[in-house]
Amino acid sequence: MLGAITAAIATAAAATFAGVHSMVPTSQLYGASFVGIAPGSRKLALTYDDGPNDAATEPLLDVLLRHQVKATFFMLGRYVAERPAIARRIAAEAHVIGNHTFDHPNLIFVTNAELRRQIERTQRAIHDATGVLPNLFRPGFGGRRPGTFAVAQSYGLTPVMWRVICNDWKATSSEFIERRAERAIRGGEVILLHDGDHLRMGADRSHTVKATDNLIRRYKDLGYEFVTVPEMMKA
Ligand SMILES: [Zn+2]
Repeated sequence: MLGAITAAIATAAAATFAGVHSMVPTSQLYGASFVGIAPGSRKLALTYDDGPNDAATEPLLDVLLRHQVKATFFMLGRYVAERPAIARRIAAEAHVIGNHTFDHPNLIFVTNAELRRQIERTQRAIHDATGVLPNLFRPGFGGRRPGTFAVAQSYGLTPVMWRVICNDWKATSSEFIERRAERAIRGGEVILLHDGDHLRMGADRSHTVKATDNLIRRYKDLGYEFVTVPEMMKA
């Protein structure tokens, strides 16, 4: 009995320890991921998760086109299959596409076999829609455990997390997002934003679209250059 309780406490402690490193975006404990370059660099990489989303992705593409900025989109295979024309436009306008799994499970709780299925279905959906085979990977919720990134790397996918998070999925205004971005930006960061919602197609991301417009204008004025994740990796 006592042994069982002790074992339960040990398991709980291990789970807590694992939990911290499973969700911290910059933690390198469960394998290396790209989060940016030296702080102070005059480069920023905008990344957008959980699309394509017919309510927001195309308005966002219009903003990026107007500013001649290229971004990186981590797409859900399920939504790519539902909205291939939007995925094609993203590729046609020379943005970079990454694999964000098929339907956004928390990978902490997913077997390697299911992870491989998630990755393969998404690679196939993106390739079928765009002709592009991604080489970047980002886990849903930033969740991972030992081995998750190794599986992704076995498909030639480099894990990408972030250093700037703007809580844009719960923003009540574009200013809410811009304030958080400005507090965290030092230069050299991968910035996490969302053009979609993993729970449903059609989510309103108009605050994110407007914040993108304002942030690009502000940081270009300050002498920053917006680059894709692969361009930042080369810097
Ligand atoms: Zn996501």
